[in-house]
Amino acid sequence: MTTPRISFEFFPPQSLDASFKLWETVRVLAPLKPEFVSVTYGAGGTTRDLTHDAVTTIHNNYGVNVAAHLTCVNSTRTEVLEITDGYAKAGVTDIVALRGDAPKGQDQFTTTDGGFANSIELVETLAETGKFNIRVGAYPEPHPDSPDTAADVDWLKRKIDAGASSAITQFFFEADTFFRFRDACQKAGIDAPIIPGIMPITSWAGIKRFAAGCGASIPAWLNDAYEKAERDDRIELLSTAVCTELCSDLIDGGVEDLHFYTLNRPALSRDICHALGVAPSASLENVA
Ligand code: FAD
Repeated sequence: MTTPRISFEFFPPQSLDASFKLWETVRVLAPLKPEFVSVTYGAGGTTRDLTHDAVTTIHNNYGVNVAAHLTCVNSTRTEVLEITDGYAKAGVTDIVALRGDAPKGQDQFTTTDGGFANSIELVETLAETGKFNIRVGAYPEPHPDSPDTAADVDWLKRKIDAGASSAITQFFFEADTFFRFRDACQKAGIDAPIIPGIMPITSWAGIKRFAAGCGASIPAWLNDAYEKAERDDRIELLSTAVCTELCSDLIDGGVEDLHFYTLNRPALSRDICHALGVAPSASLENVA
């Protein structure tokens, strides 16, 4: 099996305790030499400064390429460009450009006065600056705002045509879900890399909630397996096995890059990477 290139997603800490968890996560995973790591932008734009601080601290101290997530929610175009100017000045050149979800208490995304109406407008504007490598989200199963996968593929093509260089997918549980989407994208003429987003499962109840919110379907066999594992207190073991198998099926099908949603819990992502043959290549003490 070919050893994959890997990347990791973190979220910005909102408390002292969460800060320790993030830095411990970076300490454990940076030695695996990811292609890049990314830092999320809180729903509704709630972590603007925290995301910026986490991104620039990783960029300045860990020798890892960092992508800053950015959404259109609750911000004018001017405010978004102020954020990206700050990144450019700090030497951060990768952005994950997203429309974002509706803020808490609202059902639907609405455009802020003077803001970007959708992700395509955001990508176009960032691309015009010529300063960024722009990644976007992609949806192997229909996004809740989408009628079907064809609409998601069409929208993704428009984001790539607007200037994005690659896409990272929402998480999914079966390799065929990804392959069907990848085939549809190829047919539509999308030749930019589409990187599967992998969710190592630390809490089955939590993942079921996430999945319901983002439209990821849960196969019955997986639900059965987790119900039994919960009963026997073997969640971690099952998650390592299930996730490693998903990754190796993807690699067997030609996937070269994997993006792990770490949720700032490094152990499972690290163990899965080790099982896939990704080994630490430097001690972090040498770079931190
Ligand atoms: P888009 O690709 O713009 O839209 C999703 C789908 O909705 C499209 O494929 C299309 O079918 C349909 N659609 C949307 N707008 C239109 C339109 N105007 N006309 C027709 N169809 C339309 N959220 C955060 O708040 N912070 C984050 O840091 C964050 N990181 C993420 C990282 C990844 C890799 C992914 C996959 C998602 C992330 N999200 C994040 C969640 C994301 O914000 C939500 O899924 C949001 O609802 C869609 O954002 P998007 O840019 O991917 O959407």
